[in-house]
Amino acid sequence: MTPRAGHKPGNTLTRLLVSACLLGDPVRYDGHSKPLHDEDLERLLAQGRVIRFCPEVAGGLPVPRPAAEIQGGDGAAVIAGVARVRIREGEDVSDRFIAGAKRALELCRQHRITAAVLSEASPSCGSGRIYDGSFTRRSIVASGVTTALLRQHGIEVFNQHQLAVALNYLSSYRRGA
Ligand code: SF4
Repeated sequence: MTPRAGHKPGNTLTRLLVSACLLGDPVRYDGHSKPLHDEDLERLLAQGRVIRFCPEVAGGLPVPRPAAEIQGGDGAAVIAGVARVRIREGEDVSDRFIAGAKRALELCRQHRITAAVLSEASPSCGSGRIYDGSFTRRSIVASGVTTALLRQHGIEVFNQHQLAVALNYLSSYRRGA
């Protein structure tokens, strides 16, 4: 994966958007976190090059909150208005998810961020798999709402299992590759 034409590698402080729960912030629906404890990521944090972000909290949802899943499609379909994000009891929380995704995009633009590491399987942050909307822990190949919006605007999204790839991608900007 190479930096896209149009970006200006090497001449800005490259930053990474990272799911806040992967950095230890207890913002998941159940009030817990999923910290990565990675030395390279810690170094980036110490250099002020990591922007921590939770789209669901930014969209106005509380912690803890009911688990939600996308029904009728993927994150892109939610943005297009043809799928919805709902909690198990049926409440439609799509607007909150879209608001959080838009805030993520604003942050990326503000900090000239071209890559993100987001937590897999989340209906916001999932980038490879998300749950299928049945609340039975079945997953499908699809992405969440924030990931979809970021990708629609040219931002590379990786999951936590691809951290090394993401950091390589980021350093290619620093080298001006
Ligand atoms: S929305 Fe993303 S950052 Fe927030 S808790 Fe869920 S996976 Fe983590």
